[in-house]
Amino acid sequence: MPRKLAAGNWKMNGLRSSLVEIQKLAERHSDTSVDVLICPPATLIEACRGLLFDIGGQDCHTAQSGAHTGDISAEMLSDAGATYVLTGHSERRTDHGETNATVAAKSQAAYDAGLTAVICIGETLAEREDGTTLDVIDQQLAQSVPDTATADNTVIAYEPVWAIGTGKVPSSDQIAEVHSHIRARMLDRFADGADMRLLYGGSVKGSNAAEIFSIANVDGALVGGASLKADDFSAIINALE
Ligand code: PGA
Repeated sequence: MPRKLAAGNWKMNGLRSSLVEIQKLAERHSDTSVDVLICPPATLIEACRGLLFDIGGQDCHTAQSGAHTGDISAEMLSDAGATYVLTGHSERRTDHGETNATVAAKSQAAYDAGLTAVICIGETLAEREDGTTLDVIDQQLAQSVPDTATADNTVIAYEPVWAIGTGKVPSSDQIAEVHSHIRARMLDRFADGADMRLLYGGSVKGSNAAEIFSIANVDGALVGGASLKADDFSAIINALE
C-alpha cells in the first residue's frame, strides 16, 4: 500500500504571519501516521525549515539556472529546504500556457534536483461533458510523466479543473473510475506503479474528506483553500489517518 499523503497547496497566499498555521498543525499532528506536505509560496520555503512537515514548491523551471528572470529552479527549491514540487497544476497550464511537454521537462528537472514531483492532471468541464475524460487523462499521463518516474520521485494528483476552488466535487464513482484508470496506466508503465501515490484534488474539505479517502486508489489529497487554516487542514489530515 502506498503511504498516505495530505498535501496543501497555498497558491499565491501566505505571508510570514501565516506560518503560525503550520506551527499549529505541527503541534496537533506531531505523531501523525501519514505524510503531510505544505507547498507555501516560494518566499516562505526557507522559513518553513524544521517545521516537522515536508515542504514543496508550487512550480519550477525546466533548467536549474540561467537567464530566466523571475523563475525558480528545482535546485533552488531544494537548496531552500523543499523536498517536493508541484508540476503542471491547472492554474500553471492555464495562466502560463504550460503544455504536457513542459510539465514533463519540469518534472525531470525536479528529479534531477532530488525532488519528488507532484504531477497534476485533470479534465476541464467541457471534456467531462464530451465524455473524453479518460482520453485526456491518458494523454496527460503519457506526455507529462517522464519515463524516469518512480514511486519515490513521483506523486500523481488528479484534479478535475472544474472542481478546483468551485465547491463542486465529482461523485465517488467518477473519482474511482479515473483513479483506477490512472493506477492501471502506472502499472503498465512502471515496475513500482502499485506504490505510486495517487492524490485527488478539487474542493476537498473536512466534510467530504472521509468519503473521498474511502475510494480505492485514492492515497491522499491535494488541497488548496482548505489547507490555509490549521483547523481546516487538520480535519482533512484526521480523515486520512
Ligand atoms: P481547492 O484547490 O482545494 O481550493 O479546490 C485544489 C488545488 O488547486 O490544488
